[in-house]
Parts: sequence; C-alpha cells; structure tokens
Amino acid sequence: MRQGASVAILGARGSVPVSGRDFQRYGGATTCVLVRLAGQTVVLDAGTGLLDIPPLQEGERRISLLLSHPHADHLLGLPMCPLLSRTDLQMEIYAAQRNGQDAEAQVRALMSPPLWPIGPEKLLSQPAFYDLPTHLELGDIAVNTMGGVHPGGVTLMRLTGGGYRVVFATDCTLTDGLLPALTEFARDCDLLLCDGQYSDAEWPAHAGYGHSTWTAVARLGRDCGAKQVRVIHHDPSHTDALLDGAAEELRRIHPNCAFARAGEEVFL
Ligand SMILES: [Zn+2]
Ligand SMILES: [Zn+2]
Repeated sequence: MRQGASVAILGARGSVPVSGRDFQRYGGATTCVLVRLAGQTVVLDAGTGLLDIPPLQEGERRISLLLSHPHADHLLGLPMCPLLSRTDLQMEIYAAQRNGQDAEAQVRALMSPPLWPIGPEKLLSQPAFYDLPTHLELGDIAVNTMGGVHPGGVTLMRLTGGGYRVVFATDCTLTDGLLPALTEFARDCDLLLCDGQYSDAEWPAHAGYGHSTWTAVARLGRDCGAKQVRVIHHDPSHTDALLDGAAEELRRIHPNCAFARAGEEVFL
C-alpha cells in the first residue's frame, strides 16, 4: 500500500553556503533533505539547510540522519542543529567508514576544538552513531547504498518504503564506469536527487572535482525511469538567473527534471 510521502529540500547548494539577493529562489544553504516515508523521518546530510528543518510533527520521536560523506558542506548544519539540543528525541547518525574513521569520528573532526568548542558527547540529545552498511532497515524503510565517485569516497542512497523509492546521489561524478550500476540502482524511482553542479560548458575545467553536469543528471533520470528529478549541489557561483536560464535545458531531456529549490517540498 502506498502511504503519503514527502521530501523537503532544506538545502541544495554545494561546496559552501552562499547568501544575498542573487540566491533567493534556489537558496544558499548547503545540502540537506528531509524525507518522510512509511512513518519514518530521515534526514539526508547535514549541510546548513539542516538549520531550516521545520517543526517536527506529532509523534516524530526518532530521527535518523544518514551522512553521504564528511566534507564540510555536508556537516556544517550539525553544530547548531536545534534537534541536537532536545532530550525527547532518539537521534541516530549513520555514516560509512572513511579513512578508518567511523561516524562519530567524522562528526568529531568538525565538532571539537579548535574548530568548535564542544564535542558530540556534550550534545543534549545524546545521538547514537552507527556504521552505514549496504543494507539497513529503518522501521518500514529499506535503505540500500552503493559507492559513488568522489574524492575520499561518497555513499549513494536509495530509500524504499510505503510503496515509494527515493534516490539521493550527491557529490558524485557520473562516469561511464558507474552509470550502468547507478541506473539500475535508481531504476523506476519516484524521485532522483542528484549532483549536477556544472553546465556542459564548465565541465572540462572541473572534470576532476567529483561532481557532474546537470545534463548528465537529466539523462540519468530519463534512462532509469525516474518519475521526478531534482538537480542538487548547485555551484556557489550559480545565481537564480543562471539556473532559471538553464531550466529548459533540463526539461528537454526529462520533462519532470528541475533544479532543486531550498524550501521546496516534493510530494511523491
Ligand atoms: Zn558537497
Ligand atoms: Zn564532497
């Protein structure tokens, strides 16, 4: 049975947060996505968008935060996250091992002196840290993961529950070697969220940075049969006007592909 499901995009910017009048429509906060699926509440990455998390709903007491990788733009929302000062929530933080560091060590790398005055052990919510495996059950959600192509590694995620499927593929180069497996991984998903930081014109100068082009994301969405596609991880230099101007380029490839906007809620 398909239950109601929604995906709120809290931050869609990549690399560093930006602000100012040129970034009003797509937002300046970095990557963070709130997924409500099959009665579970899951947050994907902890960029500065995490600070805009809406009030929790009645009965939401367990929050699972899944981290794709520990680059700063995906963790910067954590130190001041209001959820982490609540004592009435069960907070779980999952991340795959990176360079021998487990989830807690990755968070501690940002949240400890000299970068931050306190460590995660001082957080009132007392989050529990876990390894993010290739398969995980969160209540009625099944989480599957696969490795992406990004400096230091990245975890791509698929959440299945309540009759819906959401794929989150941030910070990844869509190489010829990865695409066949990723296309199957994302097959027939209801929503594909994927890193498309660059235009085709920008690509040659940025090919080694671990990101992708927005046209490659639209083609992946078309080829895997995604019902809706949102391009995420917008380059800090890409203004509202620039992204508005490129929107038609996406729709020509996939009619339901658009640049993600912070504050947007996608209903599945
Ligand atoms: Zn990033
Ligand atoms: Zn990264």
